[in-house]
Amino acid sequence: SDTRIAVLVLGKIHPRVLEKLGKQFDIISVERDDGPKVDAETAARIRAIAVAGGLNAAWIDAFANVEVIANFGVGYDGIDVRHAASKGIVVTNTPDVLNDEVADTAIALLLNTLRQFPKAESWLREGRWVKDGAFPLSPFSMKGRRIGIYGLGRIGLEIARRLGPFKVQIGYHTRSPRDSLPYDYYSTLKEMAQSVDTLISIVPKTPETHKVINAEILSALGPQGVFINVGRGWSVDDDALIAALRNGTLGAAGLDVFYDEPNVPEGYLSLPNISVLPHVASASVPTRDAMADLVADNIIAWFNNGNVLTPVPETPVKLKA
Ligand code: NDP
Repeated sequence: SDTRIAVLVLGKIHPRVLEKLGKQFDIISVERDDGPKVDAETAARIRAIAVAGGLNAAWIDAFANVEVIANFGVGYDGIDVRHAASKGIVVTNTPDVLNDEVADTAIALLLNTLRQFPKAESWLREGRWVKDGAFPLSPFSMKGRRIGIYGLGRIGLEIARRLGPFKVQIGYHTRSPRDSLPYDYYSTLKEMAQSVDTLISIVPKTPETHKVINAEILSALGPQGVFINVGRGWSVDDDALIAALRNGTLGAAGLDVFYDEPNVPEGYLSLPNISVLPHVASASVPTRDAMADLVADNIIAWFNNGNVLTPVPETPVKLKA
């Protein structure tokens, strides 16, 4: 029987993760729906888990010898990290390698929302340019916008840098201000919403960021206001956003992420002043390859060098012997 270290792979994951890990480890692939059912002998050999899209305490407890959990994605809200930490298990994510892609997507989504380019393309494709003439002027423009970025971490900072050449005003809200940056700091989200007309959300899913983009924040942005979400749908009160877009309290919105993916509230899809994407901010071949490599490299580094590359802050790494 196989005596190699086994790595559990839960559900679907990028094929490159399997390819890389398969060279050194025995890969045990399990479907999420089946539950953590693996024979005892194999389960005992499982010392690492690679996962995209969540791992709860029951799954963690099912494998007593797990030392490291590698998440595909920088957002690791689906993993019970506190439980992992309490058991001395290291959790890793994929920071930085996706910053540029996600920031590029945020800018594209902002422009699509302001200028309605996806609709303009449909207009051409549907033959309406010939039949009905020029596409209607977009009500909004990037020109002169005052933009507030909610979350100025690794990705938020790249978004801010990209906004520089657009000659817009740039501010941000985080719990603590970042040193020596040329952007206006707001100590509360509300204060920022009152001072800007464009809000871009790129905060993680945490208990503190639950539905904080609410009716009050949206109405502070105003009728010319635009809301862009590339962080997590968790941060938005969907009912409030749909109402604000419907009654003109808010001008338009662009969303890459939703509360209960892949389900998108019907209320959004019937609105004209919204641009929607199916959570594709990091979804290019080169960026997903880099993320896959980092998932595998974290597990490889743990067993070969006794240290992971990118632990999450909740599970700081003690060197492995
Ligand atoms: P970072 O941890 O580098 O940055 C998070 C930022 O959010 C920090 O500036 C932090 O500042 C701020 N923040 C966190 N909590 C709060 C709070 N309660 N109030 C105000 N600000 C807060 O993360 P990344 O930039 O790497 O990624 C951010 C998130 O983006 C990910 O967690 C993920 O959910 C999402 N994401 C979405 C993608 C997509 O496909 N759409 C792709 C990649 C990421 P401070 O601690 O000072 O408050």
